[in-house]
Order: sequence, then C-alpha cells, then structure tokens
Amino acid sequence: MKAIIKLIAILLVMNAATTLAESPVTLVIHGGAGVLRDELTPEKEAESRKVLEEALRKGFKVLQDGGSSADAVIAAIVILEDSPLFNAGRGSVLTAAGTVEMDASIMDGSTHKAGAAAGVQGVKNPILLARRIMDNTQHVMLTGKGAEEFAREQKLAFEPAEYFIIPEREEQLKKAKEKEKAKARTGALADPLPPSFVIGTVGAVALDKHGHLAAGTSTGGMTNKRAGRVGDSPVIGAGTYAEDGVVAVSCTGHGEFFIRSAVAFDVAARMKYTGATVDAAAREIIKVQLPKLGGTGGLIALDAKGNITTPFNTQGMIRASIKADGS
Ligand code: ASP
Repeated sequence: MKAIIKLIAILLVMNAATTLAESPVTLVIHGGAGVLRDELTPEKEAESRKVLEEALRKGFKVLQDGGSSADAVIAAIVILEDSPLFNAGRGSVLTAAGTVEMDASIMDGSTHKAGAAAGVQGVKNPILLARRIMDNTQHVMLTGKGAEEFAREQKLAFEPAEYFIIPEREEQLKKAKEKEKAKARTGALADPLPPSFVIGTVGAVALDKHGHLAAGTSTGGMTNKRAGRVGDSPVIGAGTYAEDGVVAVSCTGHGEFFIRSAVAFDVAARMKYTGATVDAAAREIIKVQLPKLGGTGGLIALDAKGNITTPFNTQGMIRASIKADGS
C-alpha cells in the first residue's frame, strides 16, 4: 500500500513538472519565395540579412520576456513591412493601376481567433490592422475602404502613396506590362513572369513559453494584379494558420494556387489526421502536390515542440529562425 501511495505521489510530482515545463520559444520568419539567385546581389543579400536579423531579434525578445507568440509575430512582421526590401508595407508591388493594395492576416493558435485585412491602401502596417480586426471586432476579415475606415478609428498610422511605392517596383510593373503586351500580340499562352515579380511576401510563426502558437503573413500581392485581387495571405487556412498543439504556418507564393489547395490548413490537417510530422506534411504539399497544379512558392511551419520546416519549390526563399538556445 505504502509503495502504491509513493508511486502515485511520484507520478503527481512528475505531472506537475511537465505542466510547468516551459515550451522552447522559437521564431521563424520569411521574406518570400521569389528569390532569383542572379538577381540577389551581394549588397542586397547583406541588406536582407540585416533586416531579417533585426526582425528575429525584435520578435525573440518578446518571447524571451514571456510575451505571447502573437505579439512576437507582430513585432517581427512590422520590421519587415517597414523595410522597402520586401513585398509588404513599404516596397509592396504595384497593381495594374499602379497602386499599392495590401493584404495581411494573423491567427492566434491559443484562442483559434484570426484577423485579416485585404486590399487596403495607405495603412502603414497592415499586420497591425489584422491584429486589431482579430482583437476588436466580431469579424475575421475586412476589405478595402471598410478596413481603412476601421484602421482610422483605431488610430493606426497612414502614409501617402509615395511612402509605399519604390522605383524598383515601378520598373517591375513596366516590365510586366511589356510582357503582357507581347503575349497579347503573339497570342502566346501563359508565359509566367519571373518568380521575383510575383512573390516576396513576409511572414512569421512563433511558439511562446506557454506553448501557444501563432502565425502571421503580410503582402503587397503580385505585380500587375488586377485592382481588387486578393491573394492567399489574408485567407485563413490558405496563407496563414495556427492551432495550439499542432502547427503554425505562413505561406508565400502564387496565391491562387495556395487558396485552391488550402495549403496552410492542409499542413495542419495532415498532421492531425495522418500523424505526419510537420516536415513530412509541409514537404508533401510544397514539393509534390502544388507542383502537380503548377503552383510555385514555399512556407514556414513550426510545430508545438519547436520543430521547424521551411520547404519551397522555387530557386530560393528568404528565411531565418531562432531557437530557445539563441541558435
Ligand atoms: N502569396 C502572395 C499573393 O499571392 C504573394 C507572395 O507570396 O509573394 O498575394
């Protein structure tokens, strides 16, 4: 009898210890899967690395201080949106009309709540707007004028068009239009633009001390997109998904394909229903299923134990991660 009581006591203590054990804080970020090796000059690469490191450190500090995974995701994405190097916030690609229309979303795996903004103009940090939509409305997604009006109500910062539009993006739009014209003249079928013209989104996934997962994504979309076009980035389950105990995912790539394949949720579904590891689930989608449809891009995913995977089927994907031990 005594031995049994002792055993129960030991089990109780062990259980308490596991509950109290902190999760290994982890942060993974991406800057898009549209990298063409020969377009990435050493200067550009060095600059990108600097901004990525800054974003990682900002987000990681939040996690180290015991902050939430959602806060860490936001902190990292704001840095990337503010940098003109990436296709999100400042430096977003241009629509066919020469305007900037941005999409962003966030999902908190602990509450299963999500917020998204689509087709917004002038909002300095669309990811902050997505967060406010999640926290301060009954809705998941707001679009266009309504989203901008809500951003004003929330006193979020706005910037004029000149802030967002950088010369490189104007040049890309010009080239895209020339290609389109040539295509129309020759009647040639789909001649896809180089990936760097169409992809370059930013995103982050995080695991906090309390074991909560979160994911966020922000983008200007695709060069020469029709005004009003919405990609996968603000679509929960397509470009962004997080569920505690399972996975947090942020995607980048040709959005239409990611929506049609519900990519971000598919990673979670494969893990939940087939027992696949995060790596096996994500790889199968990016390396096998998407290419079958002609979909290009990649994703970052992080499971509840801190395992990371970052598959892509393009020439390159800008990505970085930091683990609990600082590596
Ligand atoms: N997925 C984004 C979109 O289709 C583009 C990107 O990832 O760069 O809008």
